[in-house]
Amino acid sequence: MKTTNTATAAVRAGIATDRHHGAVVPPLHLSANFAFERFNKPREFDYTRSGNPTRSLLGDALTELEGGASTVVTGTGMSAVALVLQLVKPGETVLAAHDCYGGTQRLLRGLSARGAFDVLFVDLTTSAGLDEIARGKPRLVWAETPSNPLLRITDIAAVTSVAHAVGSIVVVDNTFLSPALQQPIALGADLVVHSTTKYLNGHSDVVGGCVVAANAALGDELKWWGNATGATGAPFDSYLTLRGLRTLHVRIRQHLENAEAIVEALREHPAVGKLYYPSLATHIGHDVAKRQQKGFGAMASFELNGGVAAVERFTERLRHFTLAESLGGVESLIAHPATMTHASMSAEARANAGISESLVRLSIGIESADELIADLRQALDAAERTRPSVHSSLPTVHSSLDRTDLVLLGAGAIGRELIEQITDCASARSLRICGVIDRSGHVIAPDGLPAGTLAELAAHKKSGRSLSTHAFGIAAEPKQSVDAITSTKGFVNPILVDLTAAETSPLLDTALGRGFDLVLANKVPLAGDQQAIDDLFVSATLHGRRILSEATVGAGLPVLDTIRKLGESGDEILTIEGCPSGTLGYLLGEVGRGVTFSEALGSAIASGYTEPDPRVDLSGLDVARKALILARLIGYRGSLSDVKVKSLVPGHLASVSLAEFLDRLSELDGEWAARVAGAEANGEILRYRARVTAKAITVGLVGVRSSDPLASLNGTDNQFAITTRRYRQPLVITGPGAGAPVTASGVFADILRLVSERRTTTGEPVPC
Ligand code: PLP
Repeated sequence: MKTTNTATAAVRAGIATDRHHGAVVPPLHLSANFAFERFNKPREFDYTRSGNPTRSLLGDALTELEGGASTVVTGTGMSAVALVLQLVKPGETVLAAHDCYGGTQRLLRGLSARGAFDVLFVDLTTSAGLDEIARGKPRLVWAETPSNPLLRITDIAAVTSVAHAVGSIVVVDNTFLSPALQQPIALGADLVVHSTTKYLNGHSDVVGGCVVAANAALGDELKWWGNATGATGAPFDSYLTLRGLRTLHVRIRQHLENAEAIVEALREHPAVGKLYYPSLATHIGHDVAKRQQKGFGAMASFELNGGVAAVERFTERLRHFTLAESLGGVESLIAHPATMTHASMSAEARANAGISESLVRLSIGIESADELIADLRQALDAAERTRPSVHSSLPTVHSSLDRTDLVLLGAGAIGRELIEQITDCASARSLRICGVIDRSGHVIAPDGLPAGTLAELAAHKKSGRSLSTHAFGIAAEPKQSVDAITSTKGFVNPILVDLTAAETSPLLDTALGRGFDLVLANKVPLAGDQQAIDDLFVSATLHGRRILSEATVGAGLPVLDTIRKLGESGDEILTIEGCPSGTLGYLLGEVGRGVTFSEALGSAIASGYTEPDPRVDLSGLDVARKALILARLIGYRGSLSDVKVKSLVPGHLASVSLAEFLDRLSELDGEWAARVAGAEANGEILRYRARVTAKAITVGLVGVRSSDPLASLNGTDNQFAITTRRYRQPLVITGPGAGAPVTASGVFADILRLVSERRTTTGEPVPC
């Protein structure tokens, strides 16, 4: 019995039509050929390329679902596209949507380059696109709606009315919705193309396609080409696709329900930037979609805040969305169009089509919506915490694994110490220091500076002389030095090591752009303006470079690394508390033991713990910078001026000369003795503490109880007590946090980590 209901048609097609055995489910006919009834009397089918009972059943079902006249079932979606293009002759034009499926674009460009026809890509969602149809009078207009991956909507009725007026054939690729949600022939289209691989089969176990023709003449022409080119599909694939088709409508219902719930959840998440889904009132073409579709589909795309690093994190964290091409199956998938489905397009073509590097596309399956949402939320939370990541980790491309070239920016105490550590480490022979830069100029040797020259340079610097006055030195501004060195050819796996305490962001950006990874001991760029840091990490990601900075906080204690690992394991950091200043740790330890403030600061100065002007340490600015670097790792978006810092420099001594300040230090002794006594009376010990959460940073003097981890701080040690959702009892990291040897070894560890990660990704042995 004929039906007008497509759900019934999908289920009933061919059911109980077997006259021989009465099989309810139509049998699968794998036979390649069929016997003639007698001489010169073929049956309905003679050879499976031209016709097959199983494929024919599927074709009839699809014809009914799309409301067409006939269907050619093809081996893949692309062979359906190629089949349609047989209708176009050399000299004629195909006018196609500029954002149609990348594979379709590739074929159109490829055939047109060989003179098969002319091709013109236009934006069919605009009236200018429609004007192009009227002007160009193409043989074929190729529409795809919703489009991939931005789900742009084309008004099919508007396109067909303009196209038919100039005699064009209109083809609509209906893959993203299926006939359960959109019937282009009813809107005027002449041909409907599907990748049946997607919703029609729905189980991701068949690659197939079809072309449904609105009228018999076009259908016959395509059937002829289908047989002539051999584009037709295999019987077994047809059987499976027909089986998938049976449940199309119930699957689509669940897809839609899930999509709606997921889009709602995505809208609320701060890590989600622009969201593309046709149900949104703000979506371009929303009104057309409402009119021409029976539902908004189950494909949704969105920009992830935080760029490619966040995309990488997000996709790695998802459990119920598989990172894979394709779409439309019962299982949920995620794709990154820039590196996957649309990688064959040039970066420029992607940019024109609005496909950014941070765009991800979801194919929403029919699993439990609650579980899908929970999965997305946890992965989005993790992606959000990556911003800005000090360990951005896109795979890097290197030309050699047995050599790493280093350029040192800064040649002070830490630089000299690092040179010594590297030349002393036998297993770091693959490391070569090829350049050293200071404020005055640089020394460069693309084949590596010999150990003797390095020792000589270190001694030269230690005696207070600048690099430009060394025999090999070249005088230049730091910008010119970085420019000259980073543009020198021949470096292998180069790393720029920033050991300065200056605003070096532009220099770092230059180095990233020239293929250098970065290791930072310099806090200033990381504690600078948020936009500048975001730009730096985006630049690293774009150039496939890495930035490591363990030595910026805690002089190389594994603090950043621990925070990163906690984040990666799905934990959430609640607070980081501690003293990240060796100088202030030492000072308060001493005054707590009864040493006067002036004596304690005097010995800190004599031991070289302080900055040349100790008020820099006492102001808490350095601690605030470190706290800000930590806070940004856990999602804090403020700047240094938002950090609440209680300075230890009394206002009246803040702007006097350094000599006067040092002269008048003893004026502060009484006040400090009283503070210590006051704390003792409360059963507390004085400490200088930074407290960091994702929302706020406070830095200043506090009294702590003896049970507090900070109470046990010794000498110039640094301490970080980290509480997380899982570690309510703090995870405490304590260790030597000050001095050139410790900082240099933190830097060295980062360098070796870059080297070892390159090796482990390629299965090479790891040094040191
Ligand atoms: N059309 C659209 C919209 C698609 O998304 C695809 C594949 O992703 C195709 C056509 C090509 O189909 P197939 O991969 O089955 O050859």
